[in-house]
Amino acid sequence: MPGHTDTVASAPASAHRVVVIGSGFGGLFAAKALRRADVELTLIDRTTHHLFQPLLYQVATGILSEGEVAPPTRDILRRQRNARVLLGNVETIDLTARTVTSTAAGTTTVSRYDSVIVAAGAGSSYFGSDRFAEFAPGMKTVDDALELRGRIFGAYEMAELETDPLALDAWLTFVVVGAGPTGVEMAGQIAELSRRTLKGNFRSFDPRTTRVVLLDADDAVLASFGDKLSTHALHELESMGVEVQLSARVVEVDACGIEVQDADGSRRRIEARTKIWAAGVAASPLGRQLAEQAGIAVDRSGRVPVQPDLTLPGHPEVFVIGDMMALAELPGVSPVAIQGARHAAGQIRARMSGRPAGQPFRYVDKGSMATISRFRAVVSIKKIRLSGFVAWLVWLAVHLVYLTAFKSRFTALVHWAVSFLGRGRSQRTWTWQQVVARTGLQRLEQVEPDATRTELRSADR
Ligand SMILES: Cc1cc2nc3c(=O)[nH]c(=O)nc-3n(C[C@H](O)[C@H](O)[C@H](O)COP(=O)(O)OP(=O)(O)OC[C@H]3O[C@@H](n4cnc5c(N)ncnc54)[C@H](O)[C@@H]3O)c2cc1C
Repeated sequence: MPGHTDTVASAPASAHRVVVIGSGFGGLFAAKALRRADVELTLIDRTTHHLFQPLLYQVATGILSEGEVAPPTRDILRRQRNARVLLGNVETIDLTARTVTSTAAGTTTVSRYDSVIVAAGAGSSYFGSDRFAEFAPGMKTVDDALELRGRIFGAYEMAELETDPLALDAWLTFVVVGAGPTGVEMAGQIAELSRRTLKGNFRSFDPRTTRVVLLDADDAVLASFGDKLSTHALHELESMGVEVQLSARVVEVDACGIEVQDADGSRRRIEARTKIWAAGVAASPLGRQLAEQAGIAVDRSGRVPVQPDLTLPGHPEVFVIGDMMALAELPGVSPVAIQGARHAAGQIRARMSGRPAGQPFRYVDKGSMATISRFRAVVSIKKIRLSGFVAWLVWLAVHLVYLTAFKSRFTALVHWAVSFLGRGRSQRTWTWQQVVARTGLQRLEQVEPDATRTELRSADR
C-alpha cells in the first residue's frame, strides 16, 4: 500500500483555492462555514476524524467509544460539494510558493492555495521534560485516550495478580497531573470507576481502596473558574475520595512513580504505576514554521501572534486560528476555535466578493464548564455561577448539542444512561497493543527510521 508518488492537488485555475489544515474544531467549522462559497476547498488532516476533545476522558475511562467522539471527517462533509478531504501529515507550508506539503504512508501531496486556514491545534507540553511522556501520557488524541484506557483498566488486572502489598498499592495508585478541567474530570471519573463500576469485579483486593491523587503546581483546582467554583470543586473531589495536592510541582516521572516538590522545596515520591498528564499545552510546530517565514516570534506556548483579523502579519491570505493563535489572551478552548473559524471564512468570502476585509475578530465568551463526576459539575457563564446537579444538566445539554452527528448524540445518550443511571461502563475493552504501541513506535523509529516513515506513517500522532 505505501508508495512514493508525488501528486499535486490543484483546483481549476478560475476557482479560489482554500486549503484548511486540521479537522478539529477550527478546521471543520471553517470548512463548513465556506459551504456556500465559490471556492475549491481542500481539508488536510493526519487523522481521518473530527475529534471532540472535551469528551476524550470518557473514552479513556470506558464510558464512550472512540467512534462517538471522533466521527469520520469525510462523512461529515459528504454533502459539501466544494470540499475535498485529504489524509496527510502537513510537513511544510511555503508562504512564498503558496503551497502546503503533506505526506501519508510515503505519498507526498502538494496542495496550492489562494487562502489557507491553519488550525493544527496543540499537543501536550511537559515543560521541557519530554522524557516524562513515556510514563505519563497526555490526552490529546484518540490514541492517547485508548492507551490511557488500557493503562487504567490494565492496572486493575495487574493488581489482581500482585502478591506484594507495596507493589499492589502502586498498581492501585493513580496520579493525575494538572487540576484544570481535564485533570479534574479524569480524577473524578477514576474515583467513580473504582467506587462504583468495578465493585465486585476482583477477588484479591477491593477496588474501593484505589488512591486517586490530583496534583497541581498552582494553589487552586479549576483556577480559571474563580474562587467560589474552585472551592466547590475541591470539596466535591475530596468528598469522592480524591486526594488533592496543590502547590506541588512534578520534578521526575518513571515507570513506578512520580517525584514531587512542594512549596517549601522539600521533595517526596508517590509510588504509582498509572500517571496521566493533563498539565500543559504546546501549539503545533507548524506555528513556528509560519512565524519564522513571517519574521515574527511565537509565544511561550508556541502560538502564533496574529493580527486582529486572525491573519499572519504581512500575509492577509494566511489565517491562523484556534489553539495555534495568540490574540488578546484568548484561551485555548473550542468556542475560540469555532468562532475564529467562522470569522476567517467570513473574511475570505468578503475578499472574494470585493467587500472590505480585515475586520477584527470579536470573541463572544459563552462561559466554561467542567464535570466532576456523574450529576456534579461546575458552570461559569458571564456572572452566573452554577454547581451540582443543575450545572451537570447544563453540561449534558451543551455536549449533546455540540457532539457532531445525530448518531453520536443518540449512542452517547444511551451510554451516559448506562454509566450515570446504572453503574456499568460499556467501553471497557482494551488491548496490550494500545498500551505499548506509542513507545514501541518511537523506539522503532530510532532504530529503523525509514521503516516507520513508509510503513507506519499513518500511525503518526
Ligand atoms: C482533553 C481535552 C479536553 C478539553 N475540554 C474542553 C472543554 O471542556 N471545553 C472547551 O471549550 N475546550 C476544551 N478543550 C480544548 C479544545 O478541545 C480546543 O481548544 C480545540 O479543540 C481547539 O481547536 P483547534 O481546531 O485549534 O485544534 P484541534 O481541535 O486540536 O484540531 C487540530 C487538528 O489538526 C490536526 N493536525 C495537527 N497537526 C497536523 C499536521 N501537521 N498535519 C495534519 N494535521 C494536523 C490534528 O489531527 C487535529 O485534527 C479540551 C482539550 C482537550 C485536549
